[in-house]
Amino acid sequence: MEAPRARLLCIVIPCFDEAEVLGHTYAELKRVLSGMAGYRHLIYFVDDGSRDGTLHEMNRLARRDESVRVLSLSRNFGHQVAIIAGIEHAERRADALLVMDADLENPPALIPEMLAQLESGYDVVLGVRRSERRVGLLRRLASRAFYRLFNQLADVPITPDAPDFFLLSPRAREALERMAERRPFLRAMVAWIGFAAARVSYVPPARARGRSKYTPSRMLRLAEDALFAFSSKPARLLLRSGALGALLGLSLLAGVALRGVEGSTALAALAAGIALAVSGVQLAALGLVAGYLVRALEQSRGRPLYFLQQLPDEPRAGDAKLVEMVSRGPVEAQRRRA
Ligand code: UDP
Ligand code: MG
Repeated sequence: MEAPRARLLCIVIPCFDEAEVLGHTYAELKRVLSGMAGYRHLIYFVDDGSRDGTLHEMNRLARRDESVRVLSLSRNFGHQVAIIAGIEHAERRADALLVMDADLENPPALIPEMLAQLESGYDVVLGVRRSERRVGLLRRLASRAFYRLFNQLADVPITPDAPDFFLLSPRAREALERMAERRPFLRAMVAWIGFAAARVSYVPPARARGRSKYTPSRMLRLAEDALFAFSSKPARLLLRSGALGALLGLSLLAGVALRGVEGSTALAALAAGIALAVSGVQLAALGLVAGYLVRALEQSRGRPLYFLQQLPDEPRAGDAKLVEMVSRGPVEAQRRRA
């Protein structure tokens, strides 16, 4: 009898200025993957517009190892978009697709356990950080506050401390691909698609080399995008608090009218205070509405989420035009230099 064909695991790794750590990550991954029976693998490095030698390093690895594929975005589109590009371009026949960071904060040693969970019938397997004591207190508090707020506002809760380190079955991958988010927030998308999810916990090792690319303002932006994309509750709350404020104002006015101007100094002061507070709230409310509007506008423009300046070896059918565009670009020159 013919031996069963090895299953295919595709690994997507977004990289922004990770030249320093890439070789390590590759070596550690290969160490784990080569010890795994029953699976063959393809590693998709996604260069997110790096300014250091990341792309060069990726291409060097790809020349040495057939299982390495390289995609390069035309500029820095951000971590989340880089992951989407990888998911969309990884081999269609993958039996499992893993997303992980480039810095070894998501330990490759966890992969066999994650695959075992997928094989037992789950569609999504999340890597969940067990303790984060090595992260600063402020960042830990901010992260806890975010998860609490998000889960209070969003319709579908997300797993706290599950970073973008997850394994997908083919149908979970396809579900994600069909979401077409303008400002993707994968942690919530992975929850939103549903399907049974398993969790595998780990103690996060420190970043192997290089620095974190997430500044506090970048993190805040991601949190904002997440809330706008996955909750309409703030808009509803706004409507209700507006109605309540109007009611309060009207009754104050009625009070002033009934008691006459002289007897109502205290009431007038109160009314003035409330008017000030209300205008502040109105401004914030306007900002909130603008936030929804900007996002709706972006979604309706329908611009492509990203462009590639280097495609992996097998382009998708829909990439025909892109291939033409890529081959006219400076990539060949870059390859020759590499
Ligand atoms: N990353 C990316 N594009 C960006 C920022 C980050 O592709 O604009 C990648 C980065 O190379 C890493 C992953 O996203 O593989 C997570 O970033 P980082 O380690 O800097 O974030 P942290 O783990 O500190 O939250
Ligand atoms: Mg990291």
